[in-house]
Amino acid sequence: MNTRQVHTILKETDFVHESGTAEELRVAEYLKAQCEAMGVQAALEPFDVEMSSVKFSLLTADGISYPCHGYRLCGSGSVEAPFQYLPSMDPLSLAQVRGKIVLLDSGLSHFAYQDLFEAGAVGFITYTGNVFYRDHDIDQKELRSYVSLGKKMLGVNLNAKDAAKLARQNPATVRIEVDQEEYAGQSHNVVAMLPGSCDEYLVLSAHYDTTSLSHGSYDNMTGCIGLLCVMDELRNKDLHYGIRFVFCGSEERGLLGSKAYVAAHEDELSKCVLNVNLDMIGSAMGKFIACVSAEEGLVHYLRYLGSEIGWSIESKTGVYSSDSTPFADKGVPALSFARTSPRNQAEIHSRNDTISLLSDKQIIQDGRFVAEFTRRMAQSAKCPVTRTIPDKVKNELDEYLNRKRRG
Ligand SMILES: [Zn+2]
Repeated sequence: MNTRQVHTILKETDFVHESGTAEELRVAEYLKAQCEAMGVQAALEPFDVEMSSVKFSLLTADGISYPCHGYRLCGSGSVEAPFQYLPSMDPLSLAQVRGKIVLLDSGLSHFAYQDLFEAGAVGFITYTGNVFYRDHDIDQKELRSYVSLGKKMLGVNLNAKDAAKLARQNPATVRIEVDQEEYAGQSHNVVAMLPGSCDEYLVLSAHYDTTSLSHGSYDNMTGCIGLLCVMDELRNKDLHYGIRFVFCGSEERGLLGSKAYVAAHEDELSKCVLNVNLDMIGSAMGKFIACVSAEEGLVHYLRYLGSEIGWSIESKTGVYSSDSTPFADKGVPALSFARTSPRNQAEIHSRNDTISLLSDKQIIQDGRFVAEFTRRMAQSAKCPVTRTIPDKVKNELDEYLNRKRRG
């Protein structure tokens, strides 16, 4: 794969392609065609996703109206109540929310939402963006089903500048109205295989969907191109372990594609010796990292490999907020690679995630490193990574997947 091909792929997928939309499906078909152009068959595996189209959203505060987007899947209707800015979720703050509509500084995690609901809040307001930027973008957020567990409450999202204005106004009363149509939809994983001589295999994953405002160049067409790079480098090699490529849909809504993959393939996960996930590589600036949800030995192996072949890498154990996590949760050793950008050099989940953040050359170099690591694993006589997830990682998985509060 060369820089011209990388640039073409980035250009041809340079549009918003959110979970469950026709645009997401278009990119799935595009990735399938990219695999097949290399002579590797690929198939789309559909899975169900909850969808919503928000028809109408309104926020007024003592008669002043604010541009907003109603949360998807939060229900339809209206609510009017006293306003409460809630910068913290400590017990004293929560004791003040009964019967109120709250403005939050954070997104809505499972436990935060459940706490607000239990404390009697009747509506919520969040915000995204940056008070220093000129844009007035408002991200389209969603009340995820694993956050609400069916307990719905109306909510809207604002631009950060309007959130500051609302906090300063400190109105007596706010009113939220949302009208939306909720329906069942589909998203897809794109699956392709390079066979090995034994029936066990590695799974390489990268998500291809975007959020509502992002074209997803850095997050995560770069990871998808990384997978295509690996496919290109290894497609004519003799492999002991096979390599299955999974381009995941709907990652941005809570890893829905990889969760669907591990559920649909549960009975064969024992054959998956390792998951290697890519989420954001090839940025013009930033360091290469490995987040290992597997034994400590793999952390050291990556450091040694880096030293041996001259590749700077920061390697540690942990849980990465990406598609490696559902694999680790099923007991499959997993890791995510990324080139993480310094603060203010790249942004994701906004209009600022564009091709201009990236280096075609760096994408290829990062892809080649992943291919070298993958080759060593796939050609190993016995995959050296043991099938044990350390207790520290299991604990982080419990917290990340909302089975346990953060300690
Ligand atoms: Zn991502």
